[in-house]
Amino acid sequence: MTQPCIFCEIAAGRMDAEIVHQDERVVAFRDIHPQAPTHVLIIPRKHIVSMLEIGDDDAPLIGHMHVTAKNLAQTLGLAQRGYRSIFNCGQDAGQTVWHIHLHLMGGRSMGWPPW
Ligand code: C5P
Repeated sequence: MTQPCIFCEIAAGRMDAEIVHQDERVVAFRDIHPQAPTHVLIIPRKHIVSMLEIGDDDAPLIGHMHVTAKNLAQTLGLAQRGYRSIFNCGQDAGQTVWHIHLHLMGGRSMGWPPW
């Protein structure tokens, strides 16, 4: 039997997460292994395996994820100094959970390029 998608489980409320925002299209919760003082994941309720799987009709949803990140950056106090938002796509980018998620990170200075 295949394992259920953990992010679908969080979106459905069947798995615990520290949720900071939810609406009809997305859920945002704190990352369990934060890489910055503030590290939130924004996921769509729709199961999409990776950014390689998005279609033209997903454009409003992806846009909504970015607007949600901006709104959370403001409410979580990241707007003044800035923040980073990242989709990891595939193995080389370090994707480990196969349900798309937008990382929102802030609260410290970050280098570029990421390693
Ligand atoms: O982009 P990537 O797939 O590597 O990111 C997955 C993220 O999901 C990790 O930062 C990990 O800490 C987080 N995670 C989580 N809650 C889980 C499983 C993974 O916050 N239950």
